[in-house]
Amino acid sequence: MPKIIGLTGGIGSGKSKVALRFSALGIPCYIADDRAKDLMKTSADLKEAVCKLFGPESYSGGVLNRPYIARVVFKDATALAQLNALVHPVVAQDFQNWVAKQDAPYVIKEVAILFENGGSKLCDSVLLITAPEAVRLDRVLARDKSSVEAIQDRMSKQWSDERKIPLADYHIENLEWEDTLLKIDAIHQELIQNTRTKGN
Ligand code: ATP
Repeated sequence: MPKIIGLTGGIGSGKSKVALRFSALGIPCYIADDRAKDLMKTSADLKEAVCKLFGPESYSGGVLNRPYIARVVFKDATALAQLNALVHPVVAQDFQNWVAKQDAPYVIKEVAILFENGGSKLCDSVLLITAPEAVRLDRVLARDKSSVEAIQDRMSKQWSDERKIPLADYHIENLEWEDTLLKIDAIHQELIQNTRTKGN
């Protein structure tokens, strides 16, 4: 079984860009948020549970009504927690099925709120990506159509970098991309070396 390396970081820190680099190095990457979105569209059990929780407007013509659900959970923390409670076990099982099929010394599991949701305990190591809030805000504004308020609201629901840094096994402050690439490659070499010396 490959080692599981959690990849986390706040909104706009650059974790997806970092995951792409690990992919380019031949490392399988599981992007939990993307899989959760796919599973909400494809898992019959999850569809049924979401309909029960949010009503028939959740799917129109069998297609997930994402704007409706986003509107509901944005205003209602309890609804968000309930949605997460439905989606979380389905994604966890999907990840187990996926990882069992991977043939690599290690895999990357990208989760935005890995520490917040306790998922870090299920990883062999965690790589944290950070950048100052102002930089992250600018990056997300350039990437998405989000408003400053919506981005700040998401930031406020995530732990601060100060809280996460002591918990991480590896940490990259992602500012200049060329520096980040070198750091990723060094971590990759170390992970490969570690799995080799442990005979995996
Ligand atoms: P989210 O949690 O919102 O999914 P994320 O942590 O996955 O965000 P990315 O999508 O990887 O962040 O990066 C945010 C934006 O910043 C992207 O447009 C990405 O290309 C850009 N970016 C990431 N790192 C750098 C960097 N070092 N220099 C310049 N731009 C960067």
